[in-house]
Amino acid sequence: METLTLVLVVAAAAVVLGVVAATALLGPRRRRRGAAAPTEARLAGDRRTGSLASPEVEAPDRLAPPEAPGLERPEPSAGRLVRLRSRLGRSQSTLGRGLLGLLSRERLDDATWEEIEEVLLTADVGVAPTQELVERLRTRVKALGTRTPEDVATMLREELLGLVGTDVDRSLHTTHPDRPAVVLVVGVNGTGKTTTVGKLARVLVADGRTVLLGAADTFRAAAADQLQTWGERVGAPTVRGPEGGDPASVAFDAVRQGADGGYDTVLLDTAGRLQNKVGLMDELGKVKRVVEKHGPVDEVLLVLDATTGQNGLAQARVFAEVVDVTGIVLTKLDGTAKGGIVVAVQRELGVPVKLVGLGEGPDDLAPFDPAAFVDALIAP
Ligand code: GDP
Repeated sequence: METLTLVLVVAAAAVVLGVVAATALLGPRRRRRGAAAPTEARLAGDRRTGSLASPEVEAPDRLAPPEAPGLERPEPSAGRLVRLRSRLGRSQSTLGRGLLGLLSRERLDDATWEEIEEVLLTADVGVAPTQELVERLRTRVKALGTRTPEDVATMLREELLGLVGTDVDRSLHTTHPDRPAVVLVVGVNGTGKTTTVGKLARVLVADGRTVLLGAADTFRAAAADQLQTWGERVGAPTVRGPEGGDPASVAFDAVRQGADGGYDTVLLDTAGRLQNKVGLMDELGKVKRVVEKHGPVDEVLLVLDATTGQNGLAQARVFAEVVDVTGIVLTKLDGTAKGGIVVAVQRELGVPVKLVGLGEGPDDLAPFDPAAFVDALIAP
């Protein structure tokens, strides 16, 4: 009997020790992985923590940590453009195959060159790049003489790649050695901005990062709800403010909570009301200035709807005047034959396309890879 009691006492002591050890070990890890502890998160509502902090920013404490069961596992981001290349079908049939067909004609007379020009312009490549490309193709065709279909495909591939650009840095700056990297996402409402922030959070989570979202579009409660839903699916909490509240205050709080919680990246969704350019400038300028109190913004991504053509380019110009855009996200490339916009917008802003949206699915956002893009366009 005494032996049994002793065994029970030893077993109970072992369980207690085990629980204590597990708590000690898991505590800091949970914090480092980015699931801000409830008490920390509530600091968002603490006026003492900064004059810009809004007392009403919701704490992200009811959200699950990344390890929680039921979270989705997003697809890895590498190679996505190759996997999604069939989504470029409309640009492929018009721009890619259209050009291949014309360049393969036995005689390339002026009328055919005009048709080639027409194809490029219709695909939104833009006037100057179209003229340059046609000039280069004319020279190469002359030098080639007789052309096999392979010659034509190789030539077109090289020339399109040159136009899209292979020597620019398209990497996303989403990490920083000693603080969270801050990514500001801007663009006109309806371009797919909030969806893009949600998809980008998934790309980062898939790549092993911890992500905090900031709903700095405080004008539409639906936008914040939408963002939060995206985040919840992959364990990325959302910092949000009262409807109609100060967007800069939410952005400030999100970055501070990101630092306190040890997150790798803070993604900030902003409002994009273009009706009033001065208002937009004030608002976005303020968001950026306020966030920069914590440190520089690492990436400013401009979201553009690829189907909007010249109108999209005009929007891009306005945003580029307001903030230093560091990368472009072209959404809805799946729904258009106007893939040439990739070239036009890079020329217009002198900023690379870094991501492309190829559908409404959660993992339909791909890092932009010029070779995979051009190959998809001219694939047989
Ligand atoms: P926001 O107002 O700019 O934040 O736009 P939303 O993120 O709410 O998106 C507007 C609509 O565009 C939604 O129906 C999205 O599903 C859709 N959308 C966003 N990106 C893409 C894309 O790459 N392809 C397609 N087909 N639809 C997209």
